[in-house]
Amino acid sequence: MVLHGGFALFYLESHVQSVHMWRWPFTRYISLAMVNATILWIVVKIRLNLAWTTVAEELLNFAILAVLMYGYFKIQDKDRRIKDRLFQSANWDALTNVQNYAAYDRAIGYEFYHSVGQHRNLSMIMFDIDHFKHVNDTYGHLAGDEVLKGVAKTASTTLKQIDPKIILYRTGGEEFNVLLPNYTMEQTQPIAQQIFDAVAQNEVEYNGQTLRVTLSIGVSGLTVQDRNPLDFYKRVDANLYHSKKNGRMQITTA
Ligand code: GH3
Ligand code: MG
Ligand code: MG
Repeated sequence: MVLHGGFALFYLESHVQSVHMWRWPFTRYISLAMVNATILWIVVKIRLNLAWTTVAEELLNFAILAVLMYGYFKIQDKDRRIKDRLFQSANWDALTNVQNYAAYDRAIGYEFYHSVGQHRNLSMIMFDIDHFKHVNDTYGHLAGDEVLKGVAKTASTTLKQIDPKIILYRTGGEEFNVLLPNYTMEQTQPIAQQIFDAVAQNEVEYNGQTLRVTLSIGVSGLTVQDRNPLDFYKRVDANLYHSKKNGRMQITTA
């Protein structure tokens, strides 16, 4: 009974150690493993009347095994970190720290079919920075990058305050999309206006200069005529295009 309990405890602890590997430097791990193993083997020695040399031999074998296990845990831990990093870079935009086109593409497919299937609302806000090329040409590409970061930060902060479940995606160079599951057009319009106002009021400091940009926005909601995500997207895109053609710095909803 004592032995079973001992082994169970030892197993449990090894498991905990392997899970929390990053917090377990080698010395701590090996000391704990050896203390556990020594206690267990002393109990076994008393029970089975073993010689001390046998116990020492078994402990040495265990030490070798524990070192090998440490290596194995380390490799596993590294694997997990690599996977996390790959997932991060595959779905997030490194410049603006918002989700990227790949993440958007997956989300729109999922949200479209879910919303159609469950007769739920779904709306989309798409915006593009006005005359952004002018910012790059006048102040340089690095200034442009700062403006992009500023727009993404302002828009995502605005959205987070409204509803943390609404996600902002950078879908192109200076183009962003927002997906709003369960939102009607009436609920979406003021949100688009809030993004529009927040970006227009935001000042980006770069090299002692104050930069300001405006947005052209397209908004639309899912309709029963939309047969695939592209049908829906095209309408939002057409609305954004209308805002551009109509003089920029405005929101088109249809
Ligand atoms: P419009 O009002 O019609 O949208 O005009 P625009 O100048 O904003 O649009 P256009 O498509 O002509 O130019 C977009 C520019 O955005 C061109 C490209 O070099 C720049 N751009 C794209 N990605 C980045 C980026 O990551 N950083 C910087 N600094 N510029 C970028
Ligand atoms: Mg633009
Ligand atoms: Mg553009």
